[in-house]
Amino acid sequence: TESEQQFDVVVLGSGPGGYSAAFRAADLGLKVALVERYLTLGGVCLNVGCIPSKALLHTIGVYEAAQTLSEQGIQFGEASIDLERLRGYKDGVIAKLTKGLAGMAKARKVEVITGTGRFIGPHQLQVENVAGTLTLGFKSAIIAAGSESVKLPFLPDDPRVVDSTGALQLQSIPEKMLIIGGGIIGLEMGTVYSGLGARLDVVEMQSGLMQGADRDLVRVWQNQNKHRFDQIMLNTKTISAEAKDDGIWVRFEGEGAPDEPQRYDLVLQAVGRSPNGKKIGAENAGVRVDERGFIAVDNQMRTNVPHIYAIGDIVGQPMLAHKAVHEGHVAAEVIAGQKSFFDARVIPSVAYTDPEVAWVGLTEEQAKAQGIAIEKGLFPWQASGRAIANNRDEGFTKLLFDAETKRILGGGIVGVGAGDLISEIVLAIEMGADQVDIAKTIHPHPTLGESVGMAAAASLGACTDI
Ligand code: FAD
Repeated sequence: TESEQQFDVVVLGSGPGGYSAAFRAADLGLKVALVERYLTLGGVCLNVGCIPSKALLHTIGVYEAAQTLSEQGIQFGEASIDLERLRGYKDGVIAKLTKGLAGMAKARKVEVITGTGRFIGPHQLQVENVAGTLTLGFKSAIIAAGSESVKLPFLPDDPRVVDSTGALQLQSIPEKMLIIGGGIIGLEMGTVYSGLGARLDVVEMQSGLMQGADRDLVRVWQNQNKHRFDQIMLNTKTISAEAKDDGIWVRFEGEGAPDEPQRYDLVLQAVGRSPNGKKIGAENAGVRVDERGFIAVDNQMRTNVPHIYAIGDIVGQPMLAHKAVHEGHVAAEVIAGQKSFFDARVIPSVAYTDPEVAWVGLTEEQAKAQGIAIEKGLFPWQASGRAIANNRDEGFTKLLFDAETKRILGGGIVGVGAGDLISEIVLAIEMGADQVDIAKTIHPHPTLGESVGMAAAASLGACTDI
């Protein structure tokens, strides 16, 4: 073909999986191309996912915390919200990070190629962009093309109906907002809009919000967030929606469904994400893609075609950035000839709501369902000096141990900063720590991190007062 460029590795998609793989491969001496259809690197996570959502949650969290300070003797005048500046702050955070990635790619001599990629053979990827078409030849390829929001087919095409990307644009503050899907993404965006003044309804097909987490953790979050919601509709489906001048009118069916259609200024659909596997010409390379668009891989991230790898959201659940990053490293290392495997024992989950809810490994519900005998250690933050000093003592830390070996199998934390605190439990599980290891580890006082040690001590029946 005309001037086909040759690479050791072509990475398709520059999200957390793709850039991590590309950088690791380059660090290991390989000649790497990183193909991305958008002008900035970073994929969903940096541009329209993890990072912008956290920038907004941070701002709203500080704003809401400030409103509670009057009890502590500090009073402010009335607050005003400048949406354009808030948007600017969020965009500035994204720009800092995406520019950083571009710099890191350059420093490593990773060739960034902007355009939409499609496999045209087992060793060729075609890239189309405004300048035309080019063909990249590769010895190995890593598919990191990620996922996109699932769209409910019956929702009207209307600017008042958005997915998470649209919600992050923060066009206006709705008076009344519907969140379809009570998972992490929906509830994080709901927290932001509620902080800005919106009233929320949430509709969830399953029997509870934040599926996957133990109910005792979620209950604390829900108590603390009651004021945001007019209706929490569980075991309920959205069945139709109509765009009218005065709003989007939505009908529901199921246990929590009101009889009448409800009116909303903004409807957020957050019912899950679907992988981009069917849109990359995988068949031309012989790569098998399942009906839903997922690509199956082995524990070295290899697809059914041995020199083509896949990582991140496109290979399956959990669709999380930290999983994608680790998978990316494995793929790059295997291509470079190392004996790497993806063998994480556990992958933590965090809802960055207020308070945060974080969990990892075995949950109590799973232990019950699977008949695993556990010993539980629970430390309520009402007994934490630091949580009381912070005026946020509603949380708790819970550890689950194997009743026989006493090794830690899982844990959950609800409370301010839970997402940061969970890492110690993740490490403990990876290291095979037991009750005594954790209970006898000296944690600094007064911190919320102590709650992990205290929960382990509680599981041993020790006194838990600080
Ligand atoms: P992606 O980030 O999806 O990147 C894929 C990239 O491939 C995209 O840039 C896309 O443009 C590009 N691409 C696709 N097809 C082509 C093609 N044919 N040619 C060229 N380029 C292509 N996860 C967390 O761990 N923590 C969080 O706090 C968190 N918050 C989130 C909040 C929101 C609102 C959303 C939507 C997601 C969030 N996630 C979070 C999930 C996280 O964003 C994803 O798990 C992560 O981005 C997956 O990384 P990836 O590398 O697989 O793919």
